[in-house]
Amino acid sequence: MQLVFATNNMNKFKEVQALMPAHIKLLSLKDIGCTEDIPETQNTIEANAIQKANYLKSHYGYDCFADDTGLEVDALDGAPGVYSARYAGPQRNADDNINKLLTHLKTHTNRQAQFKTVIALQLHGKLSTFTGVCKGDITRNKIGQGGFGYDPVFRPKDYKQTFAEISLSKKNSIGHRGKAVNQLIAFLSRL
Ligand code: IMP
Repeated sequence: MQLVFATNNMNKFKEVQALMPAHIKLLSLKDIGCTEDIPETQNTIEANAIQKANYLKSHYGYDCFADDTGLEVDALDGAPGVYSARYAGPQRNADDNINKLLTHLKTHTNRQAQFKTVIALQLHGKLSTFTGVCKGDITRNKIGQGGFGYDPVFRPKDYKQTFAEISLSKKNSIGHRGKAVNQLIAFLSRL
């Protein structure tokens, strides 16, 4: 089976590819000649994932899935949430986003947060969604060189290291995207 993963984020693509069984061939947007930014203008994580999968299906005709992820911080009433990518402005810069987050949390002792990923699948004319959540807390400084986005400030529950310090396979086994992808794989294996 061939499926397009509708993302331009090669970090996400690598994470998901590492989990896919051999019989599912993952195609990137580049593989299908799509160079545009897929719109994500909705105000929930789920609606954004659905918008991206539907857009790709209707404009390019491919069965596909899309993921949308947000970091929900308890002390900030769930922000940045669906606005995680543009938290510090339209430049979508990870360092700017992290700096803004750490500044807003400076006086807070409650550092609890969660990553939430929703994957929307468009397959054989049907839409399905899968959700993965990973709870943890926000560190006071950036720690670690790996990962991407908010990884250097997110420490998953029961771990001493941030996502930026652990291996890709470890992140996949405990992380939000890995959990959502495993549900997707289980769904595909039942077809
Ligand atoms: P989107 O799902 O690409 O819209 O991502 C929303 C924001 O969350 C972006 O700033 C990403 O860099 C960030 N993000 C998405 N997934 C992860 C992750 O697994 N770790 C850290 N940051 C992430």
